[in-house]
Amino acid sequence: MKPFTFERATSPEQAVSAFAAQPHAYFLAGGTNLVDLMKLGVEAPGHLIDVSRLGLDTVETAPGGGLRVGANVRNSDLAAHPAVRGDYPALAQALLAGASGQLRNLATTGGNLLQRTRCPYFQDLSAPCNKREPGSGCSAREGATRDMAVLGHSEHCVATHPSDMAVALAAYDAEVELLGPEGTRTVPAAAFHRLPGDTPERDTVLRPGELVAHLTLPAPPAGARAGYRKARDRASYAFALASAAAVLALDEDGTVRHAALAFGALAHRPWRARTAEEVLVGTRADADTFARAVDAELAAAEPLADNAFKVPLARGVAVRLLTTLAEPPQPAANRPAGA
Ligand SMILES: Cc1cc2nc3c(=O)[nH]c(=O)nc-3n(C[C@H](O)[C@H](O)[C@H](O)COP(=O)(O)OP(=O)(O)OC[C@H]3O[C@@H](n4cnc5c(N)ncnc54)[C@H](O)[C@@H]3O)c2cc1C
Ligand code: SF4
Repeated sequence: MKPFTFERATSPEQAVSAFAAQPHAYFLAGGTNLVDLMKLGVEAPGHLIDVSRLGLDTVETAPGGGLRVGANVRNSDLAAHPAVRGDYPALAQALLAGASGQLRNLATTGGNLLQRTRCPYFQDLSAPCNKREPGSGCSAREGATRDMAVLGHSEHCVATHPSDMAVALAAYDAEVELLGPEGTRTVPAAAFHRLPGDTPERDTVLRPGELVAHLTLPAPPAGARAGYRKARDRASYAFALASAAAVLALDEDGTVRHAALAFGALAHRPWRARTAEEVLVGTRADADTFARAVDAELAAAEPLADNAFKVPLARGVAVRLLTTLAEPPQPAANRPAGA
């Protein structure tokens, strides 16, 4: 590992000025992604700024309703928070579907949002990779494409974004609050990650030296039900092959009043399914509507050599999730154990 210097910042402002003062500076939070990439030689910071103790470790009611989550809140703590479990179940389920208990105890909201792709060629210094070394080529495009994108990819990169949490944030219309050398700004979570285009080395719209300070989640629509489903190769400790988060509110006559749907593991960013939502809103909530809406969204899919299976897989995950959310809640006594 390349030698580096280290400091621990004690406030968000200090972290931002420390970054501006040092060449090749990186923020370090839980370290569960960055340190792995440093060991592989994929990332080589000259200076690490520990941002895990900035006081951004609370979950609070936001001024206009909703929740404001500090960037240092650990994934385990966020998933267990009563307000998240009660009002944002898709977020709690997404967090608990990610990584392992030990990792979630270290991983932070800011770090989870900014974790890098799991494309194996990105992690292999001997393989050309436009994301790691712009202009070198994309080994995945003509290589093993099973885990790669089916939506929004480009000739320069076909990698997917790995976070489960970010998919739920996109469906909840969350916002990301950033603090940088030029002050603060807010970006919708659904627009925080980028499609690869011809600059796949840029995962997000984050500007150099900007710190993720908070996430804010608006109050969910009245009467909404929400959830997250993830398909993966084994029951735990595996990244998604396809996942979906949905927030659904129905009128008394069963018409869809509000629908938000986002897919994970299909694209370079969490994929907000706006086309599906347009089909859903104002339509009767039933299996046919859900299938029609999801099919309309996935019509844009362009599978690669080995990953056509992701399209029906994502379809099944999303239709099943929407169907479950539209069912009347079961009385506690009838629920299966553990539900
Ligand atoms: C074996 C394994 C399995 C996993 N499985 C899953 C899974 O199934 N689903 C899933 O979603 N994730 C999974 N993960 C990824 C894990 O969730 C991430 O590693 C973790 O969330 C990253 O958070 P961190 O705080 O450790 O970030 P770090 O490793 O500290 O940082 C990650 C990146 O974010 C930047 N950063 C951190 N905080 C900030 C901030 N506040 N502002 C600006 N930049 C910042 C860092 O500079 C770095 O580039 C897995 C990881 C491992 C090792
Ligand atoms: S898919 Fe993207 S991350 Fe993977 S090798 Fe190609 S350019 Fe690199």
